[in-house]
Amino acid sequence: MSSIANTHNNDSSGANSGANPESNSDSQNNPQPALRHDLHYDLHSHSTLSDGTLTPEALVRRAHAQGVDVLALTDHDVTDGLAEASATAQELGLRLVPGVEISVTWSGVTFHIVGLNIDIEHAGLQAGLANLRAIRTARGEEIARRLEKHGIEGALAGAQAFAAGPILSRTHFARFLVDAGHAKDMRKVFKKFLVHNRPGYVAGEWATLEEAVGWITAAGGQAVIAHPARYRLSATRLRQFIEAFKECGGASIEVVSGSHSAGEAAGMAQYAKRYELLASCGSDYHGPEQSWQELGRPMPLPEGCVPVWQDWGLEERQQVQQVPQEKATDG
Ligand code: AMP
Ligand code: MN
Ligand code: MN
Ligand code: MN
Repeated sequence: MSSIANTHNNDSSGANSGANPESNSDSQNNPQPALRHDLHYDLHSHSTLSDGTLTPEALVRRAHAQGVDVLALTDHDVTDGLAEASATAQELGLRLVPGVEISVTWSGVTFHIVGLNIDIEHAGLQAGLANLRAIRTARGEEIARRLEKHGIEGALAGAQAFAAGPILSRTHFARFLVDAGHAKDMRKVFKKFLVHNRPGYVAGEWATLEEAVGWITAAGGQAVIAHPARYRLSATRLRQFIEAFKECGGASIEVVSGSHSAGEAAGMAQYAKRYELLASCGSDYHGPEQSWQELGRPMPLPEGCVPVWQDWGLEERQQVQQVPQEKATDG
């Protein structure tokens, strides 16, 4: 499978009309430049294969409806949703970027590293992800034991009932706990049970930074620091982390994230420039229940950022493909 599912057909001028209204313009009479720089990118999203609530197909359909041209599916520690997502993307004429979000422990803190344009067949990457899923299962059992000590029974089966895919996440425990009436909503349930110093918190011992970036890079992808403003680090620690990430071969930082304020995005843009990292943007969408984070609505990258997609060749591809389209209408 090519790294990006580019599905424009030379023989079908309407193939891409849903996501790109301007492609319907009369290109014979209107000498508009074929190069386009206004594609809409959302490079961080989740499906039911991890802790999202939409199936890969439903996620891609929603992205298309929201005007996304380029979508990365980046489930936690699993790539099993990409085949279905890719099939739907092909049908709709949306480019799907094969991605993943890898759980990492660095200096005792959990970080998330997104991989973009990975070869999902890469054996080293898949072995690493399988190991992380096993760690998740063991951690889930421990979370359930601790909740039981706290008087909450049946949490393992309860969380598993919310997990449609092969990974068990704190999100699934959160949904179970809310459903069973132990907390009002997702924000409150994390605060009450699932974060540091709370009864259901178990620190995972995830991949090392070197492993995660190494797997992604070996699989031909670009490693991206996910939502860097969410780790509550001092500026010094964040700089140390970014330096370690660069040393491992990391390529990019999520400047714009659904969980970043405009101020945080501006701050992360400074880090991107200072450390010569490419800038990524993604909603971190988990489903329509999370009303504060819509798919395909990341704000534009701040001035001066070099986008992570700069060498993906999407605009050039569009130019190449528009030529035979124009000729086809002649005959
Ligand atoms: P895990 O990787 O299993 O430890 O679960 C982490 C996931 O929990 C993240 O990817 C988020 O989707 C979710 N999460 C973490 N903190 C919160 C929070 N405060 N409110 C809602 N969801 C959260
Ligand atoms: Mn999540
Ligand atoms: Mn994350
Ligand atoms: Mn995420």
